[in-house]
Order: sequence, then structure tokens, then C-alpha cells
Amino acid sequence: MKTIFQKIIDREIPSTIIWEDDEIIAINDIAPIAPIHILIIPKKPIPTIIEAHTEDTNLIGKMVMTAQKIAKEKNIEGYKLLFNVGEKGGQTVFHVHMHLLAGDFINIESLQ
Ligand code: 5GP
Repeated sequence: MKTIFQKIIDREIPSTIIWEDDEIIAINDIAPIAPIHILIIPKKPIPTIIEAHTEDTNLIGKMVMTAQKIAKEKNIEGYKLLFNVGEKGGQTVFHVHMHLLAGDFINIESLQ
């Protein structure tokens, strides 16, 4: 069954797209926990970082560089990048994604 992010990538459900190329899509989180809360999602359906392979190294690195690009474009001077990894790491959608969080207030307690 497709994850919610696969449905977003396939344009089966709507989202606010911040940035996209052939490998990565970045969207606004539907339930933001910070004034800026963007999800950076590789299009390759890797379920979790636990299941990433050496061949995914460049793609995972590109996620961080995409965050850098978005932050520059939006003049975001400081931010947090977060992966929830596995169910016990607070992950709820099993398609790898990285949270870009920024703004005046980030409640670290709510990052699960
Ligand atoms: P996780 O807990 O797996 O690290 O993060 C999943 C994130 O996906 C959550 O922050 C949640 O708010 C977000 N999310 C879940 N469903 C949707 C959706 O349909 N659209 C968008 N844009 N974000 C979603």
C-alpha cells in the first residue's frame, strides 16, 4: 500500500510544494510544530533510515543540501534538521523524510 508521501509524490493527494526535482520533493507539514515546518522527502520509497543502503548515500546527503537551498531562498538563518527513525524513534510515515524546523519557538518535547 502507498504511504501518504507516495500519494503526495504521485499527486493523488494535495500538498503545498516548496521545492521539487526528479529526486526530491519538499512540502509544508500538514500539522506544523514550528512556524516553519517543511518535510524534505526523497522520491525513492526508502521506508526508514534503518533500511537505507550505501547506494543511498548521495540521496540522503542531497536531502540536507536541499534544506540548505530552501533555507537560503527563504532567508532562514537558523534551523533544525530532524529524522525520526523507526517506530521507536517517533516515525509515523514509513517513507524516509527529514523535518526542517525554524521559527521563534521550537518545542523539542513535541518532536515525536
Ligand atoms: P514522522 O513522525 O514520520 O517523522 O513525520 C511525519 C510527518 O508527516 C508529521 O509531522 C505529520 O504532520 C506529517 N504528515 C502526515 N500526513 C500528512 C499529509 O497528508 N500531508 C502533509 N503535508 N504532511 C503530513
